[in-house]
Amino acid sequence: MANKKKSRDMQGLVVGTILVLVLALGVYGVINQFTGSKQEAADKVYPIDYKGQPFIGKENAPVKIMEFGDFKCPVCKQFHDTIFPRLKKDFVDTGKVSFYFTNTQVIGPDSLTAGEAGEAVFKQNPQAFWKYYDAIYKQQGNENVKWATPAFLVDLIKKNITEVDANKVSEDLTKKTFEKETLADNTKYNNTGINGVPLIMVNGKQIQNGLSYSEIKAAIEKELQAK
Ligand code: CA
Repeated sequence: MANKKKSRDMQGLVVGTILVLVLALGVYGVINQFTGSKQEAADKVYPIDYKGQPFIGKENAPVKIMEFGDFKCPVCKQFHDTIFPRLKKDFVDTGKVSFYFTNTQVIGPDSLTAGEAGEAVFKQNPQAFWKYYDAIYKQQGNENVKWATPAFLVDLIKKNITEVDANKVSEDLTKKTFEKETLADNTKYNNTGINGVPLIMVNGKQIQNGLSYSEIKAAIEKELQAK
């Protein structure tokens, strides 16, 4: 009897050990797959269309950053207020990075109006776009309120961007001159298959946390080293 019990115990032990091993291997495999796919995601290069988009910095800078942003999105404002000035100072003004913007319309219908006004300013004066970029983020209203009306935007331009003809922008908004082009920008964002703005791409590689200066800085330095 005692021996039989002992051998049953042994059997149990063996089966138990095998089970633990199988489980451990499985967990290891899942972790491996997870870190593997995470690395893969970080290395994936998305095709980015820079042509005809607003940018600052040296056109042939070794690193290109594309921001996909919505003027009504609070996190985009946060990016503009806290991360953008540091990137500009450390990398754009030093000739290492050219910084581009593509408008997206994810928050509300007036996201499109704000995008169209930006496009209208850009068409009149490409560098004045960046004054618009600063002014509209500074004056951003509540995301649940329709504040980016043509009247608000034209007034914003009149007060902040004197080198642009605000009446012409007003006309462009009424005629929806740049609606198609602005919607096309949003399609470029949708085509990435990524959900969430601001979406920051460094040489086409996605930054997981757009509000992390250190993550963006590390990605830029990696690209600079690869040159
Ligand atoms: Ca555009």
